[in-house]
Amino acid sequence: MDISSLRAQFPALDQQIGDYPLVYLDTAATSQKPRQVLDAMTQFLATDNANVHRAAHTLSARATASYEAVRAKVQAFIRASRREEVIFTHGTTEAINLVAHGLTAQFGPGDIILVDSAAHHANLVPWQELAKRSGARVVPIPLSADLRLDEAAFDGLLTENVKLVALSHISNVLGTVNDVKRLCAKARAKGALTLVDGAQAVAHRQVDVADIECDFYVFSGHKMYGPDGVGILFGRYDVLDTLTPLLTGGEMIKSVSFDGSSFGELPNRLEAGTPPIVSVIGLGAAIDFLNAIDRDALKQHEEELMRCLTQGLAAIPAVKLYGSAGDTRLPPENSGAVAFNLADEHHQDVGILLDKYGIAVRCGHHCAMPLMALIGIKGCCRASIGLYTSKDDIDRFVAALKDCAELLG
Ligand code: PLP
Repeated sequence: MDISSLRAQFPALDQQIGDYPLVYLDTAATSQKPRQVLDAMTQFLATDNANVHRAAHTLSARATASYEAVRAKVQAFIRASRREEVIFTHGTTEAINLVAHGLTAQFGPGDIILVDSAAHHANLVPWQELAKRSGARVVPIPLSADLRLDEAAFDGLLTENVKLVALSHISNVLGTVNDVKRLCAKARAKGALTLVDGAQAVAHRQVDVADIECDFYVFSGHKMYGPDGVGILFGRYDVLDTLTPLLTGGEMIKSVSFDGSSFGELPNRLEAGTPPIVSVIGLGAAIDFLNAIDRDALKQHEEELMRCLTQGLAAIPAVKLYGSAGDTRLPPENSGAVAFNLADEHHQDVGILLDKYGIAVRCGHHCAMPLMALIGIKGCCRASIGLYTSKDDIDRFVAALKDCAELLG
């Protein structure tokens, strides 16, 4: 991988923080954007800006064509079989809420929703709300001692009463990767629906929803080098078509009168109101950008970086690594992110100190309070990489963290 030429396409990376060049290790929170994405959005606003699906005029026709072309790009990108299976939302959070709301009428007392214990709050709270509305019950899928999903426990929990299984593809805290294909197959065999939260996966691996055979797959544009304000809900057509719309109003109707209204077809039925048009255009450019990269080579490069990162951290005695990253005898299976604390220092203090070296990491509970409780901590730091991360970034981060350990120790 020619990282320096990839990196040169990300203007935000080329800056000083105080006396130091920026080392951006917070891609799991949001990625930086390549020039191609910025230009596509500016160009659209400068030349084609209009609302979609509405008017007869040329600009609206152009905007609609560009918007719908991105739907086709997303379809190909995740290998969905139909364009109607791709719903534009404002992000992963909205996509999961859309599903949880949309399924309410299909859930009732006695139904069980199994949720990955490492799930982001976005993949837990909407299910809790669905449970409140329907009388269903949310049950956590336990983790094993190394903080991976405990598959034996999962098998034991998978009864006929399980109506939905909600999984993370990759944990946003630990970077652990779930074998979602296998887990979804087990869930399907018991008649349960499956939702996979791919917010942390799409930037790091080629996702194939046909291969995973999940019912729903969700992700956000801003974590895959696209803009914020846009996310994707993929749903298997037959299941998607059963969802009650979360939002109603313009765009999603077939006919409206004061006697009542009827709803249109997918995908419009689940896209009420003006969609995030400019963000969708930016997402299309991000997909073009990713498609032009050899994804297998990128995966290998990122795995090598993760190896350097975890080994570098493990060599600092004060560092506590969480999850499988802590086992440096094994090649790290974690993808994109590594979670750690520095002795008993508060994670926020470590983050602030690292910022003095120009290093951006995330500190806190990472919207995964149940996982923090399982580990027995209030929070931690997380370093996460992107396709622009270099070996030099990792070396600078590890050296700075060593300094921090000495300063604080
Ligand atoms: N799920 C995971 C695994 C995430 O990492 C995030 C964001 O950090 C979300 C869901 C929520 O994404 P968004 O805030 O873009 O809706």
